[in-house]
Amino acid sequence: MQWLALFVAFAGFLHAPTIDYVVEEVGGVVLEYPAGSAAVARGAHRIYKESLPLVESALGIPAAGGVVRITIAPNQAEFERIVSRASGGAAPPDRALAVALPGRRQMVIKASSLETFTDNSLLLTVRHEMVHLALGDPRMRIPKWFEEGVAEQVAGKAVRWRQRRMLRAKARAGTLTPFRDLANRFPPHEDWSIAYPQSLSFVQYITERFGDDALRGIVRRLREGVAFEKGLSDETGSSLSELERDWKEKLPGEGSFFEGLFTAEARSVERAVLMGIAFLVMAMFAVVMFRRRRALRRMDAED
Ligand SMILES: [Zn+2]
Repeated sequence: MQWLALFVAFAGFLHAPTIDYVVEEVGGVVLEYPAGSAAVARGAHRIYKESLPLVESALGIPAAGGVVRITIAPNQAEFERIVSRASGGAAPPDRALAVALPGRRQMVIKASSLETFTDNSLLLTVRHEMVHLALGDPRMRIPKWFEEGVAEQVAGKAVRWRQRRMLRAKARAGTLTPFRDLANRFPPHEDWSIAYPQSLSFVQYITERFGDDALRGIVRRLREGVAFEKGLSDETGSSLSELERDWKEKLPGEGSFFEGLFTAEARSVERAVLMGIAFLVMAMFAVVMFRRRRALRRMDAED
């Protein structure tokens, strides 16, 4: 890896007086981070580079034109300060882990909220924000649910077992928020967290039923200035309402016990490891018992 240029931007020049940010440009990506977050910045850069082909082939459009800036904020206060400064005073959404600012071709990641092996991993976060950068063309009027659902899908997130149960229960009770109401913003509080899996589930349904080409087709039409619902029905032959109804009817079931144990939920890795150990212990026990029986049988035969 070639680190082309290295600048240290001092306090008071670009940022608040307490934290110094290193600014490096590496092959079309500007990295901006405090010295303590160097490993996160390099990880984000590597993930960005490695994910470019995946994001571009999923969307059928370039991931981002020109130089992209990846900023690592070490904590919540810095995150708020950087985002508000970059977006002309707007605060980052409540509980956001990262923010994409497509107009500036910048993503800001809050290092203190990253977790390994969960949905808050650096990999999922960078890929999610890459989709926002790619779809951030102001000429494209994209419903929020579609953009977030695509970002989650391309990032590689799964609808968790518990979320699927919740979606199905809400669909049965008729209390799911209609997608038209998720076009401009997600509702606050608890509903906010279900809006993401709901959007992901619907985008997955569209992709599974009509293929990756349909997804790229919708994005292409949006870029041509076609309204979303027109693009969707051009690509699928069905209206949003028809698709929404069918998706609700076909929402996957509650899943099996084993599915619940092994789905890619937060911290399921630890649980899978424990299950693996338990399985190994049982397998070893079975082998010992088998050998003992065989030995006894042999002894019987010798007698
Ligand atoms: Zn997002």
